[in-house]
Amino acid sequence: MAMYACICPNCGLVLQLSDTNHRSEKCDCGEANFTSLGVYPADYYKLSEDKQQQLIQKTLNLTDQQFKEQKEIWEKIREPIRKRYEEERQARAQRNREIEMRNRVTCPYCNSFDVSKISTFSRSASVSLFGLASNKIGKQWHCNHCKSDF
Ligand SMILES: [Zn+2]
Ligand SMILES: [Zn+2]
Repeated sequence: MAMYACICPNCGLVLQLSDTNHRSEKCDCGEANFTSLGVYPADYYKLSEDKQQQLIQKTLNLTDQQFKEQKEIWEKIREPIRKRYEEERQARAQRNREIEMRNRVTCPYCNSFDVSKISTFSRSASVSLFGLASNKIGKQWHCNHCKSDF
């Protein structure tokens, strides 16, 4: 999914959004929808500040005077919005890291990451083959390194 640099015409916040959802995305500042600047985020951030401003002015179809007034409005309201987005983004990244750590299973015997999930099929197969004595009962993981189940 291609990401584009998009601007909120209301507060001037520039975010990276996919080409499909930038129209439905509402900015935190209020009712405004984002407008795509038509460039990839990496290309946008490579531009000098002047060039960024020119691109924004052209995209939003503003005269020099309108753009100047608009910028003053943006500078007043954009900072808290930008901060909130930044905090949300960091909270999301933190959550993803935690989920990843939780899903990272290691063998309790040899600490190897080389483990595979014991499928329901192989568990029930060992139940019927070995009865209740099966050492796979209640075990979810098999270590490919030391061959333990846990
Ligand atoms: Zn906004
Ligand atoms: Zn092991």
